[in-house]
Amino acid sequence: MPSGKDVGGGSRRGGSTTKKNAFCSFCRKSYRDVGPLVEGPGDVYICGECIDLCQSILEQEQRRRGSSKQLFDDIPTPREIVESLDSYVIGQRDAKRVLAVAVHNHYKRLAMHWEGSDVEIEKSNIMLIGPTGSGKTLLARTLARVLNVPFAIGDATTLTEAGYVGEDVENLLLKLLHAADFDLEAAQRGVLYIDEIDKIGKTSQNVSITRDVSGEGVQQALLKMLEGTVANVPPQGGRKHPEQQYIQMDTSNILFICGGTFVGIEDIIRKRMGKRTMGFGQGASEKNEQELADLLPCVTTDDVLEFGLIPELVGRLPVLSALTPLDEEGLVRVLTQPRNALVKQYECLFEMENSKVSFTDGALEAIAREALLRGTGARGLRSIIERVMMDIMFELPEQGNGMMYEINDAVISGKEPVMMMPQTKSA
Ligand code: ADP
Repeated sequence: MPSGKDVGGGSRRGGSTTKKNAFCSFCRKSYRDVGPLVEGPGDVYICGECIDLCQSILEQEQRRRGSSKQLFDDIPTPREIVESLDSYVIGQRDAKRVLAVAVHNHYKRLAMHWEGSDVEIEKSNIMLIGPTGSGKTLLARTLARVLNVPFAIGDATTLTEAGYVGEDVENLLLKLLHAADFDLEAAQRGVLYIDEIDKIGKTSQNVSITRDVSGEGVQQALLKMLEGTVANVPPQGGRKHPEQQYIQMDTSNILFICGGTFVGIEDIIRKRMGKRTMGFGQGASEKNEQELADLLPCVTTDDVLEFGLIPELVGRLPVLSALTPLDEEGLVRVLTQPRNALVKQYECLFEMENSKVSFTDGALEAIAREALLRGTGARGLRSIIERVMMDIMFELPEQGNGMMYEINDAVISGKEPVMMMPQTKSA
């Protein structure tokens, strides 16, 4: 077979070689195994397979740069981020602003990195403190949605040090990889929310030497991940074992948001503040919620340390923000205002049956009050409203079209059945 040119060492671009004893300089396979080789200057050869591989590496890199650039061009300003958050999350103004700035800087940091700047902006993982059902997870989830990056939720309490029953820290990363449909590049700049970070606090005495009761081992594993490491993620999840193939995942550009309720941290804050400035003594008779709402925004890193998180972990979560408990008014707004508010969802369901539903102000307040009693924040709203609506939803498809249902506070408290009237009567 006549080869093209057998261009020797001096050429800038090589042609294919006919030397039968030549080897691909990349994969070491011989001409006989892989067919024609392209020859470069100085006895260097490359085979077709390696050329293809190089091509795809280059394309991947180009894509990566392209998408990174696009990501940077598309980074919303902190104000835009807050505005987007506002359509889903009620209240929590401070937390939104802190998050927006941190996230904006985080993605700027990535862009600087890609543009090869000398200044390295430090990573700013975030710690959110706030009672159950105040919107910590919702904020993190909504952020990821606004930024259009993959998002996953993990739970610090399910983690244990390798070797014990439970999950490895790497499994959190696997969740992110899943959320990104195994697009490693995308997963590596996603948002990972780790819940219950306060539950792996250091306990005063570690009773057992063989079991990681205090969770400090977990903290150590978490530390590396938060700081930025190349983690070996088992693609099938579960425990690691030696023969397994791992996906190498770089965590340095993942934004970690850790959340926790930190029950009792208000006592630490009160003590600290009480010592230094005004006394909170007169608040003894006040409602707990109000006190929490006043104290939580004053939380500092020192309080978190005193609560029992190890300094290294706290140090890797430099952005700290508190969410306050939602009061009755806040809960009513949660019911009606967010884009996917529960009331809006029911209105939609009724519309599909050509019917209408309306909740009176009294009903909304009654639902909010009941949720407050449960002490699970906005989390309780759904089950309360579902219980009330259960019977109506059961009957609805058979009730005929054009009906209007009114839910008032007596319906919520179970004292009266739902009022049902022809829709034309309604205003
Ligand atoms: P947390 O993580 O603080 O315990 P979540 O964010 O999981 O609470 O909230 C549970 C549910 O309650 C959310 O899915 C959302 O429907 C509702 N919710 C909680 N806080 C808010 C809020 N501030 N605004 C709107 N909805 C909220």
